[in-house]
Amino acid sequence: MTVRTRFAPSPTGYLHIGGVRTALFNWLFAKGQGGQFILRVDDTDQQRNVDAALQPILNGFRWLGMDWDEGPEVGGPHEPYYQSQRGEKYQAAVESLLASGAAYRDFATIDEIQAEREAAQAAGEQFTYSRKWMAESDEQAKQFESEGRQGVVRLKMPNDGELVHQDLVRGEVRFEWAREQDHVIQRADGSCLYHLATVVDDADMQISHVIRAEEHLSNTPRQVFIAQQLGCEPPQFAHLPYVAEPGSKNKLSKRKLDKYLKNRDFAQLKQHGETIATRLNLAVDPDTFNPVIVDFYEQIGYLPDALLNYLLLLGWSLDAETEEFTREEMIKQFSLDRVNKAPASFDPQKLMAFQDRAMQQLPIKQKVAKVLPFLQQAGHIDDPPPCETAPKLTQILEAAGDRVKVAGDILDYTDFYVSDEELPYDEKTVEKPLRTPDDAKSLLTEFRAQLAALESFEPEELEKCLKSFVEEKGIKIGQIIHALRVAVTGKAVGFGMFETLAILGRERSLARIDRALTL
Ligand code: GLU
Repeated sequence: MTVRTRFAPSPTGYLHIGGVRTALFNWLFAKGQGGQFILRVDDTDQQRNVDAALQPILNGFRWLGMDWDEGPEVGGPHEPYYQSQRGEKYQAAVESLLASGAAYRDFATIDEIQAEREAAQAAGEQFTYSRKWMAESDEQAKQFESEGRQGVVRLKMPNDGELVHQDLVRGEVRFEWAREQDHVIQRADGSCLYHLATVVDDADMQISHVIRAEEHLSNTPRQVFIAQQLGCEPPQFAHLPYVAEPGSKNKLSKRKLDKYLKNRDFAQLKQHGETIATRLNLAVDPDTFNPVIVDFYEQIGYLPDALLNYLLLLGWSLDAETEEFTREEMIKQFSLDRVNKAPASFDPQKLMAFQDRAMQQLPIKQKVAKVLPFLQQAGHIDDPPPCETAPKLTQILEAAGDRVKVAGDILDYTDFYVSDEELPYDEKTVEKPLRTPDDAKSLLTEFRAQLAALESFEPEELEKCLKSFVEEKGIKIGQIIHALRVAVTGKAVGFGMFETLAILGRERSLARIDRALTL
C-alpha cells in the first residue's frame, strides 16, 4: 500500500501553529514511508477570495520547506484539489447514498428540529431526530415541497450496535451508533457539507491515513459510515492531541492573544517580534502578527528547521532524551505510535532554545545569508550587496555570537551601517559616560591619539593598546571603555569593544570619536 496523507486547510488567510504541527506529522509520515503528501483546499464554506486567503498558507508551507506532492499550484492526478470545484463528485455520492437508503431527503424546518431537541432535553433524553419529515418516496417529497418545505439530505444512521474504531494514536475507541445524529450532508441549496466532501475526497484521492486534530475524533463514525455505504475502504485514522496554550491545557487559539500576553514568555516573544518589525518599518497587522501564526516567525527570522524541530516535539517523542533532529532524522524517525495522547503546551522559551541552538550551529556563511535580507529590507545594504558585505557581516556575526538569536536580531547592530555623520547620539545615553565624569573627554582625546598611531587595527592590538593606556593612566577600565563605546556606536551596550573598533576600522572609529568629543 502506498501511504498517502493529506492536510485540508480552509483558506483562512493564515497558517496556525497547531495546524502546521498537524500538517508536519502528515508530511513526515508520508515522507518517511516513501508516500505522498497532498494539500487539499477545504473551501466549501468560503465566502471570501479563496486565492488571497490561501496564499499565506501556501507561503507558510514553502517557507518551512514542506513541499506537497499534489495540490494547489502543483496539480496532480486527482485534480481539482479545491473542494468548491468538486461538487459533481459530491452530488454523485449523495445520489448513491439516497439510492441505497443510507441517506434520505428530509423536509423538517429548523423550528421543528429545534422543538424535538428541546423536548428531548426537557425529558432528560438524548436527542435523536424522529424522521417525521423524511420523504419515503418521490411523491411524498413533492407533497412536502408543495407545502413550501425545503429538503435537505440526511444520513440514515444505524440505531443499534457500535463502531469499534482502531485509532493509530488513541487505540481502540468505541462509538454507539444510536448516539449518532442523522447529519445533514447536503443543504437545500444543493451544496454539500464537510463530512461528505471529506470522505468522497479521501476515497477519490486514495488517502491511506487521515492524521488530524483530535477534535475530529467525534466525526469519525459518521465518516466511516459514509465511506462504508459508498463501498470504500475507510482510511486509517490518527487523531492528534491539540497544541495547548502556554501554561494550560486549553487549545491554542488565534483569538486569545490578549489572554496569552499575560504569560510572560509569550509576551516576550511578541515583544521581540515587534522590536524587529519596528526596525524593519513593517506595517504589522495586529491580527496576523501573532506568535500563534507561522508567518510571525518568518517575518522576524526564525529558522524553519528550528520551528519544525520544536513542533515535532509538541506531541511526539523518540525517547526521553533526544531533542535535536535534522529534517532527515525527523523523516526517518517519525512514527505514529510515538505520538502522545495528551496535549502539549506551546512554550515560547523552549521554542527559543531550539532556535538559539540551531542558529549557533549554522555555518557562518549560511548565517550571513539569513541576516542579509533583514539588513536589506531595513535599507542598510543595497540589493545586490556590495562585495565587502559578506566579510563584514561575518565579522559582525562572529563578534555578536549568540546575541543574534533570530536573523532579525542583526538589526541590533546596524550602527556599523549608519554613516559617521548620522550616527544618532541619544542625550540620555551620552550623558553618563561622556559628560558626567570631568576627565571623560580628555581621556578619550588622549586615547584617540593612541588609536591614531596604532600600527594594526586588529582586536588583539586594540586590546593591548587599551590595557597599557589604563595602566599608564592608573585608571579603571570603566573610566574609558563606556565613553569609547558610546562614542563609536551611540549605544551603552554591545558586543566586544575591540571587535567593534576593528569592524568599523580606524578612519571611521576616529571620525566618530571626534564627533562625540563635540557633544
Ligand atoms: N478542514 C478541516 C479542518 O481543518 C479538515 C478536517 C480533516 O482533516 O478531516 O479542520
